[in-house]
Amino acid sequence: MQPGELKKLVPIPEDRITVVCLHCNQPQEVGRRTLSLTCRHCRKPLRLEDLQFKDFQSRRVVETCGVVTIEKKANVSTDRIMCGGLIVRGKVKGHITSRGPVLVGPDAEIKGDVTAPTLAVGAGAVLDGQYAIGNLKKSEPNPAADPTSTQPAVTSPTSV
Ligand SMILES: [Zn+2]
Repeated sequence: MQPGELKKLVPIPEDRITVVCLHCNQPQEVGRRTLSLTCRHCRKPLRLEDLQFKDFQSRRVVETCGVVTIEKKANVSTDRIMCGGLIVRGKVKGHITSRGPVLVGPDAEIKGDVTAPTLAVGAGAVLDGQYAIGNLKKSEPNPAADPTSTQPAVTSPTSV
């Protein structure tokens, strides 16, 4: 314990939520208003806030335990999205792993593989990829099994 930290005591157990780490799948309790933390199991950084995209975005990764929303005019290009939930109204490209429901609007377009417990798709949405719905596998899908995939195998450490 660091005595130099803020000497705030918040002894309210109801003010805590359980977060499951995106990386090691270990649950841990955090304060309800926590926006980011370091996983106490695997030491990787975790964000808890909801993310909203409204325009063109190109990122290597999008990772949060919160809900990611891709708005109608958004066009998000990324290697992978790991999130607690996903709402797509615009365009998104990347591997998507969601711990919660994925909602896809009627004008949405997803290019990439999607892993999620549930999926709801509006009529007219464009889905281009492989879908694993209902079974959350711990092992990563092997991109080498797909000959049409020309993605480089980027395994650089996630330094934030
Ligand atoms: Zn972890």
